[in-house]
Amino acid sequence: MKILVINAGSSSLKYQLIDMETEQVLAKGLCERIGIGGHLKHSPLVGGKPVFDEDLPLPTHSEAIAAVIDKLTSPEYGVVSSMAEIDAVGHRVVHGGEKFACSVLINDEVMAALQECTPFAPLHNPANITGINACRAVMGDVPMVAVFDTAFHQTMPGKAYMYAVPYEYYKNDGIRRYGFHGTSHRYVSSRCAELMGRPIEELKLISCHMGNGSSICAIDGGKCVDTSMGFTPLVGLPMGTRCGDLDAGVIQFLMNKYGYSIDEMLNILNKKSGVLGVSGVSSDFRDLDEAAKAGNDRAQLALDMFHYWVAKVTGSYVAAMNGVDAIIFTAGVGENSKASRAAISEYFGYLGVKIDDAANSKRGEDIMISTPDSKVKVFVIPTNEELVIARDTRDIVA
Ligand code: ADP
Repeated sequence: MKILVINAGSSSLKYQLIDMETEQVLAKGLCERIGIGGHLKHSPLVGGKPVFDEDLPLPTHSEAIAAVIDKLTSPEYGVVSSMAEIDAVGHRVVHGGEKFACSVLINDEVMAALQECTPFAPLHNPANITGINACRAVMGDVPMVAVFDTAFHQTMPGKAYMYAVPYEYYKNDGIRRYGFHGTSHRYVSSRCAELMGRPIEELKLISCHMGNGSSICAIDGGKCVDTSMGFTPLVGLPMGTRCGDLDAGVIQFLMNKYGYSIDEMLNILNKKSGVLGVSGVSSDFRDLDEAAKAGNDRAQLALDMFHYWVAKVTGSYVAAMNGVDAIIFTAGVGENSKASRAAISEYFGYLGVKIDDAANSKRGEDIMISTPDSKVKVFVIPTNEELVIARDTRDIVA
């Protein structure tokens, strides 16, 4: 069975074609500048075919999907002989609200429910819906599945997902913590149980997804019991450009003082804050590491804040679960920054965590970076959201 995994943004569309017999990625690529020009980079990963990397007109997502299918099936760049070889399509969808606690087969009813979730993710869900509609138009009857970033977090108990505001806002308007990065937290937690050789039902795990966007998830017995992102992906940890947790009073103060509109204010909190805002250097942790080494105090402060927040939220989840068996680092920073992993782990002495420096220096693989006698284990597990989407799609279609 071959499954096409699609992640559609407002002007971009990422894809992977995965052979489910071997779970090998046959080809992957990215359409960019959809609606404002168009560019496709398509990389076949089998058969020694060349990479296609050129501008081409992509007025809408439909032309983008058609271009992807064209490249996947072309004699020069292709990895399959025709569209009939693509058995199903898995779509990443950001927000499933309270309606979707797991992945679903897409039909007209599901499309209507997705539309209802749009006010919760006004930037992301419309793009995901456009991607699905374009695929349905171009690929006809090929079965399609929606996999939600929020679904894994639907097991949180009320005490974790409720905000302490008048209850009507929850009941009438859906105001609550939803959480994001669920597909990633699900993948790394189940992989961690495999690596530990123990059933996930017996384990208390904390997964730290640290990329441009960052979130932490407490997973007890394989189920999410708390997570740091909220109603939107703006809160929790300070991120590349997002502010993380912030007193709502600050918003009122700054809007009054500088006359910002709410859109201007949110733009500052989403795009100009986080480690970029504090350091004034960059949102990229590689730049921050370099600047801090060169003596830039604000870059060091931004890194210190990030590490402190990861440790502090992780500690709160140890309390929430009354213990922890393993802590997992994943995503861009978690997978690549030995320095950040070491700095965060420094806070975990009270848990009996001991880091093995040699293991922590390795890259690009699933690895335990704690010493064999460390009381709580620490793992680096590269995330693989596309594989989860493909596996869910296979299971649902089968
Ligand atoms: P996204 O949240 O957009 O999916 P990623 O998970 O790809 O992001 O993470 C991207 C971030 O990973 C970059 O902004 C960069 O800060 C960080 N990163 C990548 N490689 C390294 C590295 N070697 N050292 C430190 N940080 C890194």
